[in-house]
Amino acid sequence: MDIKLKEGRVGTDITGPVTERFDLRGRVAMVTGGSRGIGRAMARGLAEAGADVVILSRSTKDEGEAVAEELRALGATGSFAMLADVTKRADLDTAVNETVSRLGKLDIMVANAGIGIDVNAEDMSEDQWDRLMDVNLKGVFFAAQAAAKHMIPRKTGNIVVTSSLSAFVANGNPQACYNTSKAGVNMLVRCLAYEWARHNIRVNAIAPGFIMTDILGPFLKEFPDEAYSYMIRPAAMNRIGTPDELAGAAVFLASDASSYMTGQCIVVDGGYSLTPLENRLT
Ligand code: NAP
Repeated sequence: MDIKLKEGRVGTDITGPVTERFDLRGRVAMVTGGSRGIGRAMARGLAEAGADVVILSRSTKDEGEAVAEELRALGATGSFAMLADVTKRADLDTAVNETVSRLGKLDIMVANAGIGIDVNAEDMSEDQWDRLMDVNLKGVFFAAQAAAKHMIPRKTGNIVVTSSLSAFVANGNPQACYNTSKAGVNMLVRCLAYEWARHNIRVNAIAPGFIMTDILGPFLKEFPDEAYSYMIRPAAMNRIGTPDELAGAAVFLASDASSYMTGQCIVVDGGYSLTPLENRLT
């Protein structure tokens, strides 16, 4: 329809078949917490869709290097790994600068790194509260900010954040601080999306339900009955998810396939949040 608007516009320059809109060839991505678990699976998904991926992790470079090598073998030949603690703004600025100097640009930032601390609210120390908030909330802000400083002058960019189902429900764990950090992440996503839309930067989140990674492993092993009653039974699909089941959502949000979407959070939880509350109470 050829309608001349007084102000604003309709659509974008992005055209072509939908499968091409998922194509990330020629794009450069960075994944915080990309050495393990969900970050690693998202990094692999982005690489399978064609992006070169920079893997950031905090403690051991070997794990990140192994992931980068796996991605190069898939054809994402520019992929490499770096150490960066997301609680340190300078580490993220250095990582973005190094990426731009080696690969020319940064198109996609996946702010995924996060930690969990299970402790009853009345017993949580100030140090535990600060440590968790520093990684899960401030770390996401620093990652997004470091990326945006590079993306704003280029007038293009895409930021994807790992939130959690626990941003929406008190999940049965003693995790007041963790859940609050993720609820904060969702609001941060909305605010950044609003501020940066004028720079053509989109910001969205993925909220996973219970996913089989190192965060869950020890608990499942030690308390199998409890794990069943609050992680598996309440999910309509009656199972825990795997990290690779989040890769599709990550590619969707990081790609032009989601070009009209910003400030939103996709829940990928096996139907956990559909379940009547009494199924979550033991
Ligand atoms: P994971 O297997 O424990 O991996 C955590 C990753 O984050 C690791 O790569 C770790 O690097 C990195 N990391 C931790 N602290 C960091 C810091 N200060 N700076 C940089 N990197 C840091 O955890 P996951 O289960 O994949 O969780 C990934 C994200 O998904 C988190 O945000 C988590 O809250 C969220 N999530 C997980 C689940 C679940 O069921 N697993 C559900 C919902 C949401 P190092 O190895 O170097 O420490």
